Amino acid sequence: MCGALPARRFALRADRLVHKERVVRYVVIGSGVAGIAAVESIRSVDHDGEIVLIGDDPYGFYSRPGLAYYLTGELHDQALFPRTANDFRKFRFQYVKEKAAKILRAEHVLELANQSQVSYDRLLIAVGAQAVPLKVPGADLAGVLKLDHMEDAKRILKHARRGRTAIVMGGGITALELTEGLRARGMNVHYLLRGDRYWSNVLDEHESHIIERRLQEEGVTLHHRAEAAEVTGRNGNVSGVRLQNGQMLKCDLVAYAIGIRPRLDLAKQAGLAIDRGILVNEYLQTDDPDIFAAGDVAQVYDPMSGRAVLDSLWNPARQQGHAAGLNMAGRNTPYIKSPPFNVTRLAGLTTTIIGTVGSGRDSDLVSIARGDSETWRQMPDCIVAQTGFEVNRLRLLIGEKTLLGAIVMGDQKLSLPLEKMISTKIDISPIREKLLMPDARIGDVIAEFWAGLN
Ligand SMILES: Cc1cc2nc3c(=O)[nH]c(=O)nc-3n(C[C@H](O)[C@H](O)[C@H](O)COP(=O)(O)OP(=O)(O)OC[C@H]3O[C@@H](n4cnc5c(N)ncnc54)[C@H](O)[C@@H]3O)c2cc1C
Repeated sequence: MCGALPARRFALRADRLVHKERVVRYVVIGSGVAGIAAVESIRSVDHDGEIVLIGDDPYGFYSRPGLAYYLTGELHDQALFPRTANDFRKFRFQYVKEKAAKILRAEHVLELANQSQVSYDRLLIAVGAQAVPLKVPGADLAGVLKLDHMEDAKRILKHARRGRTAIVMGGGITALELTEGLRARGMNVHYLLRGDRYWSNVLDEHESHIIERRLQEEGVTLHHRAEAAEVTGRNGNVSGVRLQNGQMLKCDLVAYAIGIRPRLDLAKQAGLAIDRGILVNEYLQTDDPDIFAAGDVAQVYDPMSGRAVLDSLWNPARQQGHAAGLNMAGRNTPYIKSPPFNVTRLAGLTTTIIGTVGSGRDSDLVSIARGDSETWRQMPDCIVAQTGFEVNRLRLLIGEKTLLGAIVMGDQKLSLPLEKMISTKIDISPIREKLLMPDARIGDVIAEFWAGLN
């Protein structure tokens, strides 16, 4: 099944509205940003309802994007927790550290891995996504590592302390974060790229080369058109990687980030409508009116493309969790997906990606990665204008009357104005011709236009 659920107006069933005399029980699965945002928004409108949060991560709620900075040593693990116990007390919810195993829809009951049962009136599935496993012989050896959560980050650091050489494979932001984290921990890093250049379905050739050159300057050894055939081992531990061309590279650690997949087991078992993620309408409601989904696990209607797409981005997950919570509590609040926006660091270079910017396939990724969006892969009907070389570079995707996407590398003074111009579809007719002139200083044109608007 592909595409969006038919956008249907959703009216909460009358018998399930929040009546003063009947306390509603909300159950939220997942203690990530979407789950926590839902708990907060439910409590903001329903002061009496019971809220139960089920989460299986022993570390609870923390910043997953922050794990990259924890790997490099720029952040201590304690800096990754955005909420204190006191903050949580305000929201008065019961927290059960356990894995949700099964949804019994007819009974409105959630079964946990320890066999206990929790009944619900409204249920939110906010269980995120997980790394696509590496499938080559030897991938089960100790020292073959991914980066999904805190436990993984700690495992990577433990192995990095013991070893000297690491091999990283994959694409997108996470593979780069692994490369930089391991390099910052003093390891010699080989980065394997299956294709000709880094992140080819989001960055253009010039942008990829900027990143690759910076990695090389940091001391990373790049291997293009290099694909692992096997991870070799000694006494159960990684000892190297044999490439498909027969070359052997010795190493003590293999880290991979070849994509992520929404965790669909619960939804599949419950018979909910799924595609690549759990399909939801604009109220984050699944095809069961009492079950909602939000965050990385949800596949959400995208007005830009008219399709239902996946994001793996912190802010959309938070916004979806917030809207889902309000809808569960009976406050009809549509979630309108805006053009995805991420400010990230690629090889030390601050880079903002907004809207639709890329195209094609990237052989290093089998799906989107962390901090990534399917929307970015769309190359709309547009003209591309670009300026700048090396550290300060700007690429704009220019539609008939509006900007459709942008990549800002280095100097970030235009990233917020561009985000606003793209998400609010500001009419750029007055400057369109100027932007399209050969050798146009597109940064100056945008800055001047923005100043005029404000
Ligand atoms: C290394 C890394 C770098 C990232 N970089 C960026 C970035 O630069 N920018 C950006 O915007 N985003 C980034 N992200 C992505 C961002 O963190 C996610 O989009 C966001 O965390 C999604 O939130 P979520 O609540 O949907 O899922 P998650 O944060 O994954 O939380 C889901 C929770 O559900 C729990 N769970 C799963 N199954 C069950 C179950 N059966 N029972 C109970 N609990 C369960 C999980 O343990 C987890 O705690 C990054 C993520 C990582 C890991």
